[in-house]
Amino acid sequence: MPINYISQINLKKFRGKTCLLRVDLNVTPPVEKEVFRIEAIVPTVKFLLKNRIKVVLLGHNGRPVSGDKVYSLKPFAPILSGLIGVPVDFISHFDFLSIRQEIRFSSKKVFLLENLRYEKGETENSDAFARKLAGLGDFFVNDAFAVSHRKNASVAAITKHLPFYAGLLFEKEIKNLDFFLKKPKKPFMVIIGGAKISDKLGVLKFLWRRAGKFLLAGGPANTFFAAKGLPVGESIFEKNMVKNIKPFLNSVKIVLPVDSVVSRKKILDIGPKTAEQFAKIISKAKTIVWNGPPGLFEEKEFAHGTEAIWTAVLKNRRARIVVGGGDTTASLKILNTKDQIPKNVFLSTGGGAMLEYLSGKKLPGIEALK
Ligand code: ADP
Ligand code: MG
Repeated sequence: MPINYISQINLKKFRGKTCLLRVDLNVTPPVEKEVFRIEAIVPTVKFLLKNRIKVVLLGHNGRPVSGDKVYSLKPFAPILSGLIGVPVDFISHFDFLSIRQEIRFSSKKVFLLENLRYEKGETENSDAFARKLAGLGDFFVNDAFAVSHRKNASVAAITKHLPFYAGLLFEKEIKNLDFFLKKPKKPFMVIIGGAKISDKLGVLKFLWRRAGKFLLAGGPANTFFAAKGLPVGESIFEKNMVKNIKPFLNSVKIVLPVDSVVSRKKILDIGPKTAEQFAKIISKAKTIVWNGPPGLFEEKEFAHGTEAIWTAVLKNRRARIVVGGGDTTASLKILNTKDQIPKNVFLSTGGGAMLEYLSGKKLPGIEALK
């Protein structure tokens, strides 16, 4: 069954009504670091406001235990207000009766509910909690693609209680990512770096027959080195994944670094020869999927590989490119560029959900919209 997209309906029927809009606010402070993920919410909010619909924003942050105030969504209210251009009324409690009154009688148009994970019903996908949330509005829109791999009340159970739709960002994510699964042009290259091969093996497996080359770096490359019996010192790698990667180990599709930057007995970045070789391969690609920075880019000394890959990726204007993963998209800041991202490059806000989607999995938050 297809997904219900909000872009495809006539919103007139909801004029004067209230929309529950699930958004992704799971950004680690400082928010500026990943502000593109918050900005990405704005088009759907404006779209609803333009149609004279009140918007109640639903979101979560971190993994709080009840009442853990560091995870409060309160600081997001002024940020969202600035981005949307209208005041955002923060609601700090879960007394649903009085929330309903507040929304009904307020002259404000946009509300932000406190961190849903303060209520245990959220992660338990509780139907009772979903019903309480549903009681706050007339229809539900999910724009939190990044949370769609979680079977939580505000993305899954809630659609049993209200008319439901996918938002504009959600649609953009699905349509862009589908391209890479359905009609990638060759040569198709996949770049996998970052910390753990266990997070990325699903993507490698699912894209294995579709893509021609897999450029590995970071923890994933180290695990391949270890599987080949090469020394990795104290570098990050996953011993228990060695057996899982055996089928891919000697394939010509796997491209491992030929040199590394080593410090503190650890491989912390790809070396200059590898950066050059990877850049050359990237320049020839027509389709690229990139997840995982190739080095410990947070430290300047080990950011050269990540910078080289960004430069190569942004230079290839002929390829359709997706860059995803929380740290990978955040690493763009090392370029210090204020330039627009070229149109052929899609920065996914999806994080872990993107990895699961590109692994061919069914995600509960997507299934709930069908
Ligand atoms: P994403 O969030 O984009 O999916 P990951 O979470 O898998 O990416 O990995 C990102 C982290 O991996 C970054 O913090 C980066 O510093 C780290 N990293 C990459 N390569 C190395 C390396 N060789 N040694 C240590 N850490 C690394
Ligand atoms: Mg990460």
